[in-house]
Amino acid sequence: MSSTTNSKKRTAADAGLPDDNGAAVSNEDTTPCCWICLEEGLDDSGAPLVRDCSCRGSSGFAHLPCIIQYAESTLRNAQERGGAVQCSDICRGFLTCPNCNQEYQNNVKYEMTRALVACVEREVTGTGHGQELLHATALTERLFQLDGNKEGDKAEGDEIYGKLLALMDKMKDCDDISESFKAIELDIYASMCNFDFTVGTDDSLKTAEANIAKVRDICSAAGGDQMHLLTYLDAMMKDIESKLSGKDLQCEHVKDLNFSRQHYIDAVETLGQSDPTTIRSGVDLAAALYREDCTIEATRLLLKLVKIGRQVHGPDHNCTANVVLALTKVEERRVIVKSQKRWFKALRYEDDGSDCVLEGLLPESADDPKVEESGTIPILPGKGAAVIPSTDILPFPGTPVICHGLRLRGSSHLNGKIGDVRSLDVDDGKCLVHFEEEGLEPTVVKIGNLRVLFELPEES
Ligand SMILES: [Zn+2]
Ligand SMILES: [Zn+2]
Repeated sequence: MSSTTNSKKRTAADAGLPDDNGAAVSNEDTTPCCWICLEEGLDDSGAPLVRDCSCRGSSGFAHLPCIIQYAESTLRNAQERGGAVQCSDICRGFLTCPNCNQEYQNNVKYEMTRALVACVEREVTGTGHGQELLHATALTERLFQLDGNKEGDKAEGDEIYGKLLALMDKMKDCDDISESFKAIELDIYASMCNFDFTVGTDDSLKTAEANIAKVRDICSAAGGDQMHLLTYLDAMMKDIESKLSGKDLQCEHVKDLNFSRQHYIDAVETLGQSDPTTIRSGVDLAAALYREDCTIEATRLLLKLVKIGRQVHGPDHNCTANVVLALTKVEERRVIVKSQKRWFKALRYEDDGSDCVLEGLLPESADDPKVEESGTIPILPGKGAAVIPSTDILPFPGTPVICHGLRLRGSSHLNGKIGDVRSLDVDDGKCLVHFEEEGLEPTVVKIGNLRVLFELPEES
């Protein structure tokens, strides 16, 4: 058995395929080097190798100055070719890694959008409409990266905001570019809304609200397919309303399962299931499911997203890291200890399920009246965990469980079926369980017939 496993592992390594964790497996020396200048380590100016895209293994590392130089040359080439080149193609070298074809992320994106604006303002001179469109595109990309809550970003953002307003004024009434202008007008507004939202003052939030209304008008007049932008702005609108009213509407909207589900479905359809934006909205959906105690569905979704994230973007990509974080949360198992009437994190069963190991949250202070009651609970030495009889625990709502030992004729078919606990009656020791399998009605099950499910079985 073990020799089979070993030979499998060797095959994967020989082929240079990613292992389960997404790291490249290779027998060769794979010290990373800059794919542009081919140097290892720091460049002459002391800039380190960076990588923030979906490249894997040792590929895709580069010095920021090298990427900027490379992007500037692609911009010049695209300009020289002239003709009907789209602004997004001209800017592409600044925004997208040419190796993996995915957008740069995080700090690399932040620096590359800064470099894009600098390059366009320095080299794309002249006053033609093409230049104005290109300038507006660069400014929009940059504005999306700025956090109005940070001093430096705020000043830069204000300046860009002014430039964008002036450019929009100029372009609005020109018939010869009206089509191209319409294509980026929505992005400009969206970047402004986003910036105003990060500034977060009452005035800026109201401006964002007004701009969102404008985008909605433009979209409904055009009748185009702007579903993704609209759901993005709808979510922002709810956040703005909650900030302005001082009420926590945020919670309501995260809880809104249908909204999250639709958002995710739209993202899968328009962007594909492996796009980082889709993965993020999948995490939002999983969070909404988890809040509604649909833990099994949330876990299945996150397991799928982790797989996609690792395969397509790598384990270090922030969209993958977000999924892993969310998965850690939904895989927590909470139980109520009856004798203590409070909840604990359950870790595993022992002794064939007759005992359950809990993370040690037991009262420590001698003043705590609960210490006496917990006198019967032995604390595992050095582990801060406690072992208690399984008959003394109740799964908290949202905990996945599996049925066993049901003998009555009407319920024995539920043995081995899994579901989420949706509510529980502590005094009677009963739980309402919603089953994963379609067609099984929600059922009240006695605690003696339920076991906490620490790991989900493969989907049947
Ligand atoms: Zn380099
Ligand atoms: Zn890449």
